Amino acid sequence: MPTSSFTSASSAVPCPVVESLDAILPEEPLLMMGAGPVPIPAAVAKANAIVINHLGGTMVKVIGQVKSMARYVFQTNSKWVLGVAGPGSAAMEMAISNLAWEGTRVLSIKNGFFSERMAEMGRRVGARVSTLNVADRAVASLEEIAGAIRRERPEIVTVVQGETSNTVWNYHLKEIAALAKAAGALVIVDAVCTLSTMPLEMDAWGIDAVITGGQKGLSSIPGVSLIAFSDAAWARVKGRTAPNAHWCLDASLAENFWHNAGYHYTAPVSGVLALHEALRLVCAETLEKRFARHLKCSLALQDGVAAMGLRLYAPEACRLNSVVGIEVPDGFSPADVCSHISRMHQVEISGSFGLPIVRVGQMGEQCREHNLFRTVHALERTMVDLGVRVDLPAGVAALERGLSGGR
Ligand SMILES: *Cc1c(COP(=O)(O)O)cnc(C)c1O
Repeated sequence: MPTSSFTSASSAVPCPVVESLDAILPEEPLLMMGAGPVPIPAAVAKANAIVINHLGGTMVKVIGQVKSMARYVFQTNSKWVLGVAGPGSAAMEMAISNLAWEGTRVLSIKNGFFSERMAEMGRRVGARVSTLNVADRAVASLEEIAGAIRRERPEIVTVVQGETSNTVWNYHLKEIAALAKAAGALVIVDAVCTLSTMPLEMDAWGIDAVITGGQKGLSSIPGVSLIAFSDAAWARVKGRTAPNAHWCLDASLAENFWHNAGYHYTAPVSGVLALHEALRLVCAETLEKRFARHLKCSLALQDGVAAMGLRLYAPEACRLNSVVGIEVPDGFSPADVCSHISRMHQVEISGSFGLPIVRVGQMGEQCREHNLFRTVHALERTMVDLGVRVDLPAGVAALERGLSGGR
């Protein structure tokens, strides 16, 4: 028997040589102005550095406050608010997999990439998913939606408030929820990008499940998300007979941790603390002021972009304010623009899943005047560097006008 197994100079898998993060990360952090993740406030960063026991009195208090602040942000009195260890998509999967199963009739209003994700998750749990396919850069009319509901008789309707991919805003959300409700269907709303950036009233609008992520409107870290179920949705969760195939996302198991101070899985404590701070800052600001800040900043940005001579992708009637889509000039790819602005100006913006646009986020900390001036300037310089003619002073002047309320 060999005795040298621990002293052997070469193990089967050699220890890799890697660089430290200091060597990898840029000296000056990039300004995160894309479609998420977004910059986080100092209080969120500080909380994210802390680890505490995931069970016990302190955590119970934190969880209680997270839930009550989340109720304010969701505008719901429902008891059934829960956190999710995972991205916005995990919250989405929690909504779908707890409310839909083999044979459930789901109608998915499909505006683009993210609303299609809900349809796909429905198919994966065996639901009978029909999609109402909406043209790019448009929203479905209420007549079309009413027709689809009559035709498909869904038990569940899924819809996205802000379709981040093509920057379309489903401004009919309240009416869509009313149509679904009148037909006896539950409504699941994806508010990952929009929550706390624009009004969403879960109770008043009759929404049955709202999902959100951390890293967008809330300006928390990615990877810890929130979901709220209405009483009707919770009754469906509790009434199902087939167990949810997703153990981690099973809402009845998650209830142990989020409502009964018990164990489900080890909670991402640092991320929950970060989310607590992000929600606390929303509460300190108030939703009214936060919506107004987002609206003013986004419209000023849109004015600035248009005034410099670039085109906005979504038509004004259904243009999402939380993420602004900008057409890339002919002859260039979104990647050309994104890589140049990142390398030369340390501003990060996003492309979009094959569409000929770049996207600038207006979520949470992105909606700060200094961030907007830097981003508009960097975008203009990037265009000039690439050889695209834009009007730099006009763009900055329009931004300034919008921010000072002179739109
Ligand atoms: C970003 C986003 C998602 C997905 O969130 P992840 O945290 O990336 O999983 C879902 N829906 C919308 C509308 C989004 O903007």
